Amino acid sequence: MAQDLKDQPAVSRLPQAHCPKDRTEVRRTPQPPGRAGVGLAGYPWAMTSDLVLIGGGHSHVQVLESLALEPIPGFRVTVIVDSPMAIYSGMVPGFIAGQYKVADLEIDIPALAERAGARVVLARATRIDTANRQIVVTDEPRISFDLASANIGSTVAGLDLPGIRDFALPTRPIANLVRLLEQRIAELHQEEDRSTYRVVVVGGGAGGVELSFTLQARLSKEIDRPLVVQLVHSGKRLMAGYPSGLARRIRRNAVRRGIQIEPNRRVVGVDEGVVRFQTGDPLAFDALVWVIGAASHSLFRDSGLPTDSRGFVRTRSTLQVEGEDDLFAVGDCATLDEFPETPKAGVYAVRQGPVLTRNLRAKAAGDALESYRPQSDFLTLLNLGDGIALGAKWGRSFEGRWVMWLKDRIDRSFMHRFQTDRG
Ligand SMILES: Cc1cc2nc3c(=O)[nH]c(=O)nc-3n(C[C@H](O)[C@H](O)[C@H](O)COP(=O)(O)OP(=O)(O)OC[C@H]3O[C@@H](n4cnc5c(N)ncnc54)[C@H](O)[C@@H]3O)c2cc1C
Repeated sequence: MAQDLKDQPAVSRLPQAHCPKDRTEVRRTPQPPGRAGVGLAGYPWAMTSDLVLIGGGHSHVQVLESLALEPIPGFRVTVIVDSPMAIYSGMVPGFIAGQYKVADLEIDIPALAERAGARVVLARATRIDTANRQIVVTDEPRISFDLASANIGSTVAGLDLPGIRDFALPTRPIANLVRLLEQRIAELHQEEDRSTYRVVVVGGGAGGVELSFTLQARLSKEIDRPLVVQLVHSGKRLMAGYPSGLARRIRRNAVRRGIQIEPNRRVVGVDEGVVRFQTGDPLAFDALVWVIGAASHSLFRDSGLPTDSRGFVRTRSTLQVEGEDDLFAVGDCATLDEFPETPKAGVYAVRQGPVLTRNLRAKAAGDALESYRPQSDFLTLLNLGDGIALGAKWGRSFEGRWVMWLKDRIDRSFMHRFQTDRG
């Protein structure tokens, strides 16, 4: 059992507003049969083990949701997050377009943890010491675990190209993107300059497409100056791996809105206001959005855990880390050994949530674990920012206001589960 958390407050390094009340107030769960005695903080059973959730990603919020309804007997739960607010990625393009407020896409992790009777440590996990079963975090004592799970997302690829860190808007962590864009749009309102405003979005995947369309929709409404939006990508065609009809629809809609799409443009570096390519002329920009795909945080390599060539931690179909029975990893940060090509998309982290929850419970109880198999096809919905969305499924593509209505419904109903101020 881990002793080192006993004397720590329920929430470490959080402003008062995020501090849970006494845990006994938030616990509403029945006692498990056959457990005698009263444990820590009024728990009806002794808490002899520690479950530690690292990161507040799309899977872990579902684990917390489940723990609020039914705790794991004997387990004290700790959540380590580097930011109290997690962002639901599916609604970020809609936020950029001005369709949602930032609160619509935020999940308040301390509030969710409070409902689950979990404590929150607001710190960045820097290493997982599996030999001693401890998580090393910034500016806090090590946190011991009996069972742990990582759902820490990813960072953006290509940040080491010359000039990217200095001049481009990185799109991950997504919470930073949301904050930086809001700030930049507010600054634009103050500027007197009336010359053409040039936005270059780099990346031909779903993120690049949605960001170029939603930025175009928002800025064309909000700034009183000519606007040019260019979407550049290194491939031959947009959205490789998706139905070709979807790429055609993107191009048609781009022409209608004046968005320029340039394929075969591999970026080699960025100087202030100018992006340079392997071939072809450089492009001038006022805002450069960098959305070329996911790269791993260094946590797993720094911990000596098994990783794939990109540094993502390798997991089995049970979502356990290779060679580690008590450590799970899900979402962008993990690569399934059996399905290494699974895209780094929030939709997979969402689907892994229920399996992770059941497997953590099974592991705690000593039961058999189930296997997760990623779906081979999923509903892709792209918000174009002006009330229209594009979609693809089973090799077919479609578009319209009804597609946006569907996307909004799906996203809002997911978020509703975690909005702690709901009635
Ligand atoms: C602009 C854009 C739009 C996107 N739109 C979609 C979309 O519509 N649909 C889709 O499926 N995917 C989309 N994606 C991809 C999606 O963002 C990611 O796949 C998804 O967020 C990954 O979810 P996750 O649960 O793995 O982690 P995340 O949701 O990224 O959560 C990671 C969590 O871990 C915390 N954390 C990180 N590092 C640490 C650490 N060291 N210690 C403690 N805590 C840590 C973070 O604060 C956060 O709480 C989009 C991506 C971008 C850039």
